[in-house]
Amino acid sequence: MSSYYLETRDPAETYALGKRLGAAAVPGEVIALTGDLGAGKTAFAQGFAGGLGVQEPVTSPTFTIQQLYESGRLPLCHFDVYRIEEPEEMEEIGYEDAFYGDGVTLIEWADLIEELLPPDTVRIEIRRNPAKGDTFREITITGDVPGL
Ligand code: ADP
Ligand code: MG
Repeated sequence: MSSYYLETRDPAETYALGKRLGAAAVPGEVIALTGDLGAGKTAFAQGFAGGLGVQEPVTSPTFTIQQLYESGRLPLCHFDVYRIEEPEEMEEIGYEDAFYGDGVTLIEWADLIEELLPPDTVRIEIRRNPAKGDTFREITITGDVPGL
């Protein structure tokens, strides 16, 4: 399994990374995004959607948990599971259709539903490093993801 360490110096660079992976995304891909509030998970997701050719604006689906975008090259299901309290809630939402379907899935706060993630899920962790400035981010990518 591959592992990558990257750094971004501003939101545009995180967006660009997402866009690159979105442009290369393949059916069935599942990406788990972790990192604190404001780390840049949604910034990455916005770039990823852009790379897929999604036309609609992308925001964290904090209250709806999931949002499906169908205007791109592949369907994109974007989850924000911050408010999930029990895995059963994911079942009610029907998460398996996304995780095991032919679209692409991005999951913000994926560590909260660790036990539900498919084995080949790609992990992307975004961390601040205040010593290096407000807009500096350290990004670790673990797994085999097209585009890197
Ligand atoms: P999350 O979804 O992880 O809670 P968001 O993507 O919604 O985070 O917000 C990230 C915030 O941090 C935005 O306000 C963005 O402008 C800012 N930011 C500053 N530097 C970066 C960076 N290098 N990458 C991504 N976002 C950054
Ligand atoms: Mg977010």
